[in-house]
Amino acid sequence: MIPRTDSALHEHSWQWHLQNGIRNTNDLAEALGIEVEEVPTEFPLLIPLPYLNRITKGDTKDPLLLQVLPRKEENDISTGFSTDPLMEIPHAHEPGIIHKYKGRILIITTGACAINCRYCFRRHFPYNDFQLSKKDWSSVTSYVEQDPSIREVILSGGDPLVMPDNRLSELAQAIGSLTQITNLRIHTRLPVVIPQRINNELLAWVNQSKLHIVFVIHANHAKELDVHVERAINRLRSANVTVLNQSVLLKGVNDNIGSLVDLSWRLSQAGVIPYYLHALDKVAGAAHYDVSDKAGAELTRQMRDQLPGYLVPKLVRETPGADAKCEIKL
Ligand code: SF4
Repeated sequence: MIPRTDSALHEHSWQWHLQNGIRNTNDLAEALGIEVEEVPTEFPLLIPLPYLNRITKGDTKDPLLLQVLPRKEENDISTGFSTDPLMEIPHAHEPGIIHKYKGRILIITTGACAINCRYCFRRHFPYNDFQLSKKDWSSVTSYVEQDPSIREVILSGGDPLVMPDNRLSELAQAIGSLTQITNLRIHTRLPVVIPQRINNELLAWVNQSKLHIVFVIHANHAKELDVHVERAINRLRSANVTVLNQSVLLKGVNDNIGSLVDLSWRLSQAGVIPYYLHALDKVAGAAHYDVSDKAGAELTRQMRDQLPGYLVPKLVRETPGADAKCEIKL
């Protein structure tokens, strides 16, 4: 049953919210007072209630709803869109380790998320074959030690913050014990979609770590950043965590100058640096979100006209095999 008030909603723990998200079209239709089409998909509907609560009832064009609503276009075949758009599988070295760029490695900690974003570039990723398990940790240690250029470990997924804090604490300690590693980066959407996740237990291991910890959160629209999210970010910043945002340029969601400018100001108000605006990774099932590079570059030009430079995210595309993300320019 969906809690009726905002305060009742936020009394529940993050674990409760992980268990009690919306998982079927009937519940979504009832909660929002809209008609929702049933779409056959292997990537199920999943919306946590704190996020659902920010969607305007009755508005089928709500930019938050459009990020999570399965649409029949997902089953269209689109040229150039594939199940592994970034060709990550060939870069998976040991179980759970992806090493694409110099100086940092990415660890796939879990395949689970608190929300299923329909445009997710890992929506087809074979997590069962590639995520790191506890017994594989020694392979991370030896992988890092044989390459002294690696300074940063990135926890990704899925969403690493769906893991319990005792496991994350162990991981942070193990990473901290690798003398060459100075930075721990965590890619997570949880502070945005279930802000209760930033709790005392999480802050305890963050505070204990000697690493410089960076959280890269993921918000695509100013409406995603309510007062609860802002509080969660403040707690992270009080623990000396650097908080950056990456967003994805999505047709119908944020591909207009007003939304992008509002997002940057709202992030700034919440103490978050707008870091990247990603061009959509061409993953099968997401072609209906695609915005052309030309339109993206023009939007970035307009952002430069309207925002201070530090609030203009870099428009980038990830290209398989490239040494770094490529900036898209006019
Ligand atoms: S939270 Fe991130 S990993 Fe999970 S579905 Fe959304 S975009 Fe993908």
